This record gives sequence, structure tokens and C-alpha cells, in this order.
Amino acid sequence: MAQGNLFEAFAERTADDPANEVVGARAAVRWVDSIAVGTAAGNTLSPRPARTDKDFFSIQPFFEQLYNQTNLKYTGPNTTTQTIGRVDLALLRCCDRDGDNEVGIVLHYFRMLFNFMPNAPAGTAASPFHPPAANFQQKRDTYMDACCRNMAARFNGNDAISLSRGELVPKKATDKLKAQVVYFVQPVANAASAHFKQGLNGTGELGENSQAPESSFSPGSYIAAHELGHGDSLPDEYNERWGSFSNLELSFQMNTPGDPFETDGANWDPAQVTTPDSGLMNGVQTMRNRYFWHSAEFARTVSSIPLLVKLGNNYQKFEVPPHETVGPETATTVPRRSYLYWPIQDKVDDTAGGRSQYDLLLYAMGEDRFTKHLIPNGPFEGTLVVVVKLHFTFDATFFPSVAAILPALRNRVRADHGSKSSLRASSCPTGTRPTRRSTGWCPTSGRTSAST
Ligand SMILES: [Zn+2]
Repeated sequence: MAQGNLFEAFAERTADDPANEVVGARAAVRWVDSIAVGTAAGNTLSPRPARTDKDFFSIQPFFEQLYNQTNLKYTGPNTTTQTIGRVDLALLRCCDRDGDNEVGIVLHYFRMLFNFMPNAPAGTAASPFHPPAANFQQKRDTYMDACCRNMAARFNGNDAISLSRGELVPKKATDKLKAQVVYFVQPVANAASAHFKQGLNGTGELGENSQAPESSFSPGSYIAAHELGHGDSLPDEYNERWGSFSNLELSFQMNTPGDPFETDGANWDPAQVTTPDSGLMNGVQTMRNRYFWHSAEFARTVSSIPLLVKLGNNYQKFEVPPHETVGPETATTVPRRSYLYWPIQDKVDDTAGGRSQYDLLLYAMGEDRFTKHLIPNGPFEGTLVVVVKLHFTFDATFFPSVAAILPALRNRVRADHGSKSSLRASSCPTGTRPTRRSTGWCPTSGRTSAST
């Protein structure tokens, strides 16, 4: 890693060339200049640069994933998309061996420009990062180093909240490849060489206390690490209750269709409580296997080896079906969608006749802490989200009581319908997995039993 780029140091040697003083030495090769093929922080970049594959080294500069555009209704696989993420994603092969297993690394490399406002935030106490504080530039440097180190520590399993590193293990024992997932965040001096510009004004995403976990939601919660998750292409997992005219109830506007991870350790309703055991992209806390799934998909795409995500000893076999290519993506690009955040089956605006209308969104779910231990009566391999949108109009008589009426309505609906049904498929034939093209949860064995 040098000059803002990743160099491969495995396969090449310096050539016998008059220009080289040393011949035959191990050569570090920059196969692609990510800064040159990318764009400065703050600018859009579409399409993203091509992936480069070598025998021991694959790199996707400015990796992104595509999602349903959050302020538009989800209409199916060809819905309007938006992009999240810009990170240099690399698979380094043959970094070590463990028995007869090759050990690789999936490396996530971020270049961050920290942009301190010229003056201290208005209305705050004296800031150590602004004049007239003594040595304020030195303090900014210390802040940037600590912030980068601590954001990466949350993802790398190196802090008090996040104790395990994400690992990729082969799905088939005959595939002798495993990998660890490593994050590295580097502060850079200018926008031209940065993936992102992080504004620090005391009121934005990063506060003047974000060089370490801020604990602003629950002890150990870390907003800066959550924002790094967005940089890494992960979406918000909570529902937008606050800014979309829903009066703090579940909103029509969803971050992902149906927001299936909305309850992962967070209870936004009514008291807005998050626990220390909540997903980073939801309650701003800790890692889940699913946050490493794009690493597994990237490594699978370039190595042709199916991989599972292991996180600690309790969660060793996370997977969801690989996403089929959906236009306009092509088969040669890095997978830019996954069945984590895209329904594997859906019926939008479905009706059973009469006055009914609803969306059915079926999600495949791999085994992580949320699906195995936090959802009551787990583990679950899928979630069927039934979306019924209700539009209320209150006249002047009732308008002053909206804040009391809505929770009463919600609690009644919850008591009657919330999380009451589960389906258990009879055993799936070996090797079958649900896909978007299959018509049932268990393609050749559709018998299900419902329990309440
Ligand atoms: Zn967010």
C-alpha cells in the first residue's frame, strides 16, 4: 500500500532491463491506479472502473452496490436504483497457509479526507480543533489517526464491542481457500485522492468526539463506524420514521424494501431504544455476518469458490443465494446486488380480491446473530414482509390527538398481526436453494406448516 494504491508483491520480479539496478527482485506492481481511474471525493462516478484480475490479486476500485432508490416505491427487480459505497475492494490470494488451506485476505481500502470547518461550531464550547486552541493542527492529526484506526477496529473485530473478525470459509471442504476480511482506513491530504470527504462541523455525521465510539445511542455505539459502513456499500437498516411525514410511525419511505432488519437490536418505537447488541447499520453498534457478505460474493466471483461468512464460533455458515445478474449489470462486473437487501421473491400491489392490497417481500436470510438468536423462536432462513400501507386523514376534531391515536392504532395492529406466523418447509432436497426464478420457498417440496 503506497501512494494511495494497492500494489501486488506476489508474482512479479524486476525485469532484466538496463534501467533496473536490481534484477530479479520481488517487484511490487500497481496493476491499476485507483486515483487516476476514479474521481475526486464529492463527484459522482458512473460507471465505476473495471475490475482487474491477476493470478493472486483482484481489485475493484470504487466498489459500489445498488439498491432500490429510497424515496421511490420498490417495483421489482427493475426498479429505479441508487448506488451506495466507494471503496477499493481487493482479494489477495496465497497470503499464508493453514494446513492444506490457502489463506487469503479480502481487503477494504478507504482513503478519507477529513474536512475540518475553519471555525469552531457555533454555540459550542471552545473546540480543541480550531483556533485559538493551542496546537490545534496537531490535535486534528491525532483525531484523524484515531478515527481511522477506531472505525477499522469495529469492522476488524478489534474493539470492545466487536470481538471477532469476519472470515470467509469454503462452502465445500474440497475447496481449499479461506480468507479473513480486513479494513484499512487512511487519512489523505486532498479531495483528489480521497474516496470520501468527511465534514466535521460538530453537527454533521462526524462530531468532534467521533475519533472514538461516541456512545450516543448506547454504550459503545459508534456513528463514524456506521458511516464507514455506508462507504463500504451497506445501506441503513432502520426505517425512516423521522423525516418522511409518518409522525414517528413506520414510514412509507424505506431504506430497503420492507426494511427486514429493522428490529435487529433496536426498538425505535415508541421509546427509541437501541441495545448494545444491535446491528451497526441499524442501532449503530456491532457487526453481523451479513455485513461481510459482499466480501464473500466478491471473492466468489473472482475465485469461482463459494464461500460462507464466519463471525466468531457461534455464527459459522452465513450465506444467502448468489444474486443473478440483473440488467443493466453484466456478468463480468463485480456483483452489485445481493439477496440480503433485495427480495428474492416479491408481489407488489398484490390483492386477494375485494378491498385488499399489499406488497409481499420475501427475503432469504443467512444464519447470523439476528436470525439465529434475536428473532424470537429462531433460527429463521427467511422473512416474509407483508407491507400494508394505510393513509389516514384526520379532521380538525381529531387532529390535536394524533399523537395519542397513532400509537393506539399501531399497538392494536401489532397485537393482532405482528410476528405471529412462521412457516417451516419440509426438508429441502440437497443442493436446492430458493432463487428468484423458483416459485416456492422449497422448490420441489412445497409442503409447509404454519404455526402461530
Ligand atoms: Zn446511516
